[in-house]
Amino acid sequence: MKEMMSSPIQCPPVSRVVIFGGTHGNEMSGVTLVKHWLKDPSELHRKTFEPEPCLANPLAVEKCVRYIDSDLNRSFSEEVLSSSESESDPYEFKRARELNQKYGSGPGLFDFVFDLHNTTSNMGATLLRCSEDDILSLHLAKYLQSSSGNQSMPCYNYLIDIPKKDNVYLQNIGKHSLCLELGPQPQGVIRADVLTRMRELVNCGLDFLDLFNQGKEFPSFETDIYKVLTRVDYPRDHSGEISAFIHSGLQDKDYVPLKPGDPIFTTINGEVLHCNGDTVVYPTFINEAAYYEKKVAFILTEKVSRKVPALKLETLEHHV
Ligand SMILES: [Zn+2]
Repeated sequence: MKEMMSSPIQCPPVSRVVIFGGTHGNEMSGVTLVKHWLKDPSELHRKTFEPEPCLANPLAVEKCVRYIDSDLNRSFSEEVLSSSESESDPYEFKRARELNQKYGSGPGLFDFVFDLHNTTSNMGATLLRCSEDDILSLHLAKYLQSSSGNQSMPCYNYLIDIPKKDNVYLQNIGKHSLCLELGPQPQGVIRADVLTRMRELVNCGLDFLDLFNQGKEFPSFETDIYKVLTRVDYPRDHSGEISAFIHSGLQDKDYVPLKPGDPIFTTINGEVLHCNGDTVVYPTFINEAAYYEKKVAFILTEKVSRKVPALKLETLEHHV
C-alpha cells in the first residue's frame, strides 16, 4: 500500500465507453438522455473515444415500469450470466446475457460503464461504485465532485463493497464503472433540474476520461466515502404488513448524521421508534419507492476517509 501511494497507478487507455439509461424503465433522467443521444450522439463525442449510448431495459422503458419480470440491476450474477437460456427465464435474465455478450465479455469488454439511475430519495448526485479497487472511477468521482455545475445537488461518493463474484449489478460488466443515482425524483417523472445535473455529470465524466487518455496525470488525494453497513427494513406486524413508516424527522435527511436515540419510524397512531445503535451513521435511500418490495426502509452507511493514489496513463515501459 505504501509503495502504491508513492508512485502513480497506471491504467491503459479507456477507449470503449458505454452509457446505460433505462436500466430501470421508470427512472426518467437516464431514459430521456439516452433516447436523445441515440438520435443525436454528437454531444458525447470526445477526441480519444466515441461513447455508445444504450437503453438497457427497452421493454421496461416502453411500459415505464422498473422492470418486466425481475430487477435487471440484480440480474448480472455469474450464475445467471453463465447459465444457458431457458424459455421460462425472466425477460431481464435474457437481457442481462445479451448486454454482457455485447459489452462485458472477452474481447468485447468495455473499459468504462456509466449507468444512469434516479432515486425517489433526497440523495443529490450519488456516485455509486461497487469496487473498492477501481482507482480510475475514484478519480473520476473526484473530478465530478470538484467540477462546477449545479452545486445545489452535491456529489456523494458511495460504495457498495461486494466481491466481484457476488456482484449482481449492471455496472459489474465493465472494466471500470460508475453509477449515477440522482434524486429526489418520483418514478415516471422528468424533472428538468435533475436531468440537467445528470447531463452535466455525464459530460464532465467523459471530459475526465478524455483528459486521462491524452496523458494528463491526476494527483493523489484523500476523500470521504459512504460505505454501506446495513439495510434496515420497516417494522412489520405478524402478517408481514408494514406497521410503521419513515418518521418526518428522518424524511429527506439522506447523508445527515443519524445519532443513537434519533426518531426513525412512526406508527399510524403516532408512536415513535428511535435509532438504537451506539454510533453515528449516515442513512441513505430513505423511503426509496422501489425498495418497499425489497423490504428496505433505508440503508445505513459509515463515512470513511480514503487515500487514493495518483493516476496516470499506462506507458509502454510498463510492459517491459
Ligand atoms: Zn435505478
